[in-house]
This record gives sequence, structure tokens and C-alpha cells, in this order.
Amino acid sequence: PLSALNDASLLRTQALINGEWVSGASQFAVTDPATGETLADVANLGASEAQAAIDAAQNAWSPWRSKTAKERAAILTRWSQLLHKHADDLARIMTAEQGKPLAEARGEVAYGASFIDWFAEEGKRVYGETIPTTDNNKRYLVIKQPMGVCAAITPWNFPIAMITRKVAPALAAGCTVVIKPAEATPLCALAVAELAQRAGMPAGVLNVLTADADNSVAIGHVLCDSDVVRHLSFTGSTEVGRILMRQCAGTVKKLSLELGGNAPFIVFDDADLDSAVEGAIASKYRNAGQTCVCANRLYVQAGVYDAFLEKLTAKVSALTVGNGFESGVNIGPLIDDQAMTKVQRHVDDALALGARLLVGGKPASAIGAQFFEPTLLADVTPAMLCSREETFGPLAPVFKFNTEAEAIALANNTEFGLASYFYSRDIGRIFRVGEALEYGMVGVNTGLIATAEVPFGGVKQSGLGREGAHQGMDDYVEIKYLCLGDI
Ligand code: ADP
Repeated sequence: PLSALNDASLLRTQALINGEWVSGASQFAVTDPATGETLADVANLGASEAQAAIDAAQNAWSPWRSKTAKERAAILTRWSQLLHKHADDLARIMTAEQGKPLAEARGEVAYGASFIDWFAEEGKRVYGETIPTTDNNKRYLVIKQPMGVCAAITPWNFPIAMITRKVAPALAAGCTVVIKPAEATPLCALAVAELAQRAGMPAGVLNVLTADADNSVAIGHVLCDSDVVRHLSFTGSTEVGRILMRQCAGTVKKLSLELGGNAPFIVFDDADLDSAVEGAIASKYRNAGQTCVCANRLYVQAGVYDAFLEKLTAKVSALTVGNGFESGVNIGPLIDDQAMTKVQRHVDDALALGARLLVGGKPASAIGAQFFEPTLLADVTPAMLCSREETFGPLAPVFKFNTEAEAIALANNTEFGLASYFYSRDIGRIFRVGEALEYGMVGVNTGLIATAEVPFGGVKQSGLGREGAHQGMDDYVEIKYLCLGDI
């Protein structure tokens, strides 16, 4: 699939440190989840290269922070334009290594570029404050300054957007970065790094350390232990988030964590059912269910339960599973074997405990080893695994509830708090439920909520900090108070 690129030089297999492409001592294979074929062998870096990248970022920091925000914005804007210009190639690389349908991959390239555009502009608005004095001989000022060297550890499910959402605010603020992309999707990271080079990013400002799973752990230690690295941003599982948080305690690093979710999707009796079904499909089955904001539990009120299931069954049955390069495909492969096992475990557990299978329920083996049929289960209960764990696959479990209070209690009964959704046309209920859900984000009458202009993030064990929006800049700046005496 990668032989058809318009610009073959976007297919980088070396890592980027201090503006140089480096090979490392060994390589690791990147595979196509749709076919199992090896796409490329990529530089497998380790602890010593991580230290070299930190040193490069440290050396590059002073000249980078000395540029004006407008100068930095010019480079960032060129970078974003190059992402758009090469969108087709980037999307092909993404579908090849990650599996999502090509149309979704194109959408992610545009979404990824939108963070660069947004923060290039926001960088010009990192305003300080003056505070009215309480002493006529003094004046109080507050300025915001770049944190320093920032590290970003990113996941495979959005291999470009999760990089730009972290890196763009860091760079716009005047920080330099070391990125450790997911081992499943290094080719996207290297392609966007290549475009950053072409946009005129100075050496050392943006460094990319590719590594396999074992070396990722070793690199994680170096990034967390470093005194020079002042900030770590991570998107991934809650389990790894806890490990990194613990590892960062020694250097008291500032942390941005975007971790797991267990999103409830509530349909009240007064909902527009067709809209709710459409929202459920978009929220649940996008990226084959592999997003941290995917609906994980569908709660449907008793009065519309049967009607909703009937409409949803028709839509889920109509989804097409296949290789993301084929036109008309809605559901691509899952990322790996463990993902397949987890979805099957959730289905089997629910069926054993009395759930009803309406659609799917097993691997789509005829297409390939890592494809799972879009699955719909009814009569799911809180005793079942899929109500507690994030499935991260194309399984929609539907629960029946009676009252608004019951729905809120069920929805909040989790240690996670990232995204939530509900459908209602009642203005009073919209405010009551919107305020009662213990989540960082609430979609009301929509299943799609993410865009660069809004604060994305979770409460409880779903994470710390917000990405995107003007708030997305906060994590990359230090607040400094200046007290001027002897006036
Ligand atoms: P997912 O469940 O989405 O695969 P993970 O949390 O396992 O997410 O991985 C997300 C990112 O974290 C990847 O880049 C991976 O290499 C990295 N990672 C996983 N474990 C560690 C670790 N112990 N230290 C540093 N990075 C890690």
C-alpha cells in the first residue's frame, strides 16, 4: 500500500535527533494490521539516544524561546500547510500502519493540522496580567514563560493528531520537544517530523524517538528521570499513566495525562431516536471503536428501548468491515491480537451472564486475523465486564433503565470520567443531566465532540489537564510573578 505514495521521501524509517536522521543499533518491524505484512523496519532507539534527544532539545531551547511568537507561528503555519499538501500520502501511511478507513485517516490529517493552526495563533495570545497594588511603593506583574524541554508519549489510535495536539502548544509557547510515538505507528510520526523539517523547524526543537515496546519503557525512564525535561504529556491507558506519574515524582514534573474512558451514552424517552442512533454509530464505531471517547455503555430508557434497538440493529448490520484501503469500508482491523482477545472476552462474558446478541459477536476471520464483526448486545447489566472496562473495539452493549436518577447513577459509577453523551429534547433535563455527569466532556444530542477549539480532557482517573482550546496552552507555560518595589 505504501508503494503508491506521491512523495516517497515521506516514508522515513530513521528517528530524528537534533535535525539528523539516526538509525540506532537495531530496528523493529512495523506491520499492517489488515494483512499482517511488514511495512517497514524502523530505528529502534534506546536510553542513550533518549538522552541525546533531551540534550538537543535543551540546546535548542534558548534560541527557540527567543524568537517572537509570530516567528514561531510562521514556521508552525508552514508545517500545517505541508500536512494539508501531503494529506493523501499521510492518510495512506496512516491506513497502512494503523488500519482506519482511508476517509477517516484523511479526516485525522486535517484534524491534526487544525491543532497546529490553532496554537500558532494562540501562541500570540499568551497574555500576562497586572494586579492592582496594595502598596503604593510596589507594582505587581504576572508573566507566562515557556516551561522548557517537554516530552510527549503518544498512542497509536490517532497517530498524527495526538502528536500535534501536544507538540503544537509546546512549540507555540516556546518549548522544545522530545516525542516517543507508539511502536505500532512510528511511520506517521516520522512523516510529520519530515514535514516539520521542511517547514524550517530548527534542529533540536522537535525530536522523535522511535522504539519497540521494550525500548519504549527504557526511554520512558530516561524522560521521566531527567531534570531537564520539565513536562510530560501522555495519552494512553490509565495503567501506563499511573506508571509514568509515579516515575515523574522524583523530578516533580508537570504532567498532562489523557487516559482511559468508559463513556456512557444515554438515550432518554424524549430523545430524537434517529439522531440518537446516528450519534451512537458515530461515537461507537469510529476507528473500529478504538478511541478513548467512544461510547462504551449505551443506556436506553424503558419507553424507547425496543424502538431504539430495532433502529440500531439495522444500522449496525449495515456497517461494512474490511481493509481500510477499500472504498465503502466503515470498520477496519483492530490494532493487534490483544485487542481482538479483549473484545471477544467482553462478548463471551456478557453472553454467559444473560445478554442478548443482536448483531456480530465474533471475529470476521474471512477478511483477516484482526477484524472483528461490529457487535450489538442487548439486556446488558452492571455485572458484566463491558460495563466496567473500556472495550476499545466495535462492541455496543445496551442497558435498559427507568428513571433519570438511575441513569445518572449508572453513568457515574466508574473510576473514569472522560467523555459522556446523552440525548434529550427537554431543556430542564439537559441542564440537570449535563451538570450531574462526572465527566470532563458531555455531548448533548451529538456523538462527536472533539475539535481543536475546545478543552479536551477528563476528570477522576481519566487524566489531568486539558488539550486544545486556549486552556491547552496552560500546561506548557510557567506563571511568574514579578514584584516591583521602590516605585
Ligand atoms: P494503548 O493501550 O493505547 O496501547 P499504552 O498506554 O499501552 O496505550 O501505550 C501508549 C504509549 O505509551 C505508547 O507510545 C507506548 O509505547 C507507551 N508506553 C507503554 N508503556 C510504557 C512505559 N512503561 N513507559 C513509557 N512509555 C510506555
